[in-house]
Amino acid sequence: MKQFENDIEKAAQIIKEGGLVLFPTETVYGIGANGLDDEAVKKIFIAKGREQDNPLILHISDMDMLPQIARNISELEYKLMDAFWPGPFTIVLEKKPGIAMTATCGGSTVAVRMPSNKIAHDLIKASNLPIAAPSANISGKPSGTNLQDIIEELEDKVDYIIDGGETDIGVESTVVRVVDGKVDILRPGRITKEDIETITSQVEIDKNVMGQIDASEKVLSPGMKYRHYAPKTHCKLVYSKDNEKLVAEVLKVAKEYKKVLILSSTENASRYEGYKVIDIGSRNNLTEISHNIFSDLRKIDDFDVDIAIIEGIEPTGFGLAIMNRLIRACEHDYIVV
Ligand code: AMP
Ligand code: MG
Repeated sequence: MKQFENDIEKAAQIIKEGGLVLFPTETVYGIGANGLDDEAVKKIFIAKGREQDNPLILHISDMDMLPQIARNISELEYKLMDAFWPGPFTIVLEKKPGIAMTATCGGSTVAVRMPSNKIAHDLIKASNLPIAAPSANISGKPSGTNLQDIIEELEDKVDYIIDGGETDIGVESTVVRVVDGKVDILRPGRITKEDIETITSQVEIDKNVMGQIDASEKVLSPGMKYRHYAPKTHCKLVYSKDNEKLVAEVLKVAKEYKKVLILSSTENASRYEGYKVIDIGSRNNLTEISHNIFSDLRKIDDFDVDIAIIEGIEPTGFGLAIMNRLIRACEHDYIVV
């Protein structure tokens, strides 16, 4: 693979000049541009083929960047930022009037995150600008968690690439919004409901996190309604709290098809003898599963099968973030037994 210079100063210069930089964060790779420059942000939408009503998160390196983009921040919102920043946590705030309309898609709110990844932090700091950065992938595909997976689809669309190896967490940030003193989790991530409950007892998971959203529906997190993460291959998600029932159901579904791939937990992989299997990691190690999940989803289409059956995990704690991505990868073809 191509060697990259990883020159932060040069990358920051490109951001300042309105270019696009592919860079790592602790969640997934991002395609970054000056969040205050409408023309630059438009290039991100074009590069990704992203829907025009799906706003971008603005990434900051220091609290003093916040007044540039948001206003009327409540005490609870400050407490949340204080607890989870820098880190995989995004908060939707009231937008300061006059900031770029393109990143926020003309809405009155702005989503803000302060990443902890050192490269991301240094890049934002060196450019001294809030960086709008959606996940690095063509819209609809799984987010990029290492350069090998995304280089082909994005190489020609960006002006600079920083290689940070594999991203740590592997699923995108938790997105929340505080409404009437309650924290609404719009997109689950590494910062879980339980983590947020250490700050306030008023936490709710938005109904759209595991539900299916109509394309015409007006939702708080626009990104959740689009086809997302889905391989071309038909994928089916199977889950049971009872592991024996889970394995039995996977085998039952498998019998209905000729060419089958199973995305199995390490514990169950040997139970699917005779089938092609991708080991997604241990059921008891969600960190391992999330770290690999997008890369595993990207492998599915290489197998030339009629169906990929994916073992689900318990949708609680950090498991909810993983299941939220898997249910979308399976376009809501989900069986619970
Ligand atoms: P991505 O850019 O791929 O990391 O996705 C960002 C997510 O944050 C998408 O689901 C967006 O819809 C969501 N988001 C960004 N800005 C806002 C906002 N102002 N209000 C609600 N959700 C937002
Ligand atoms: Mg994305």
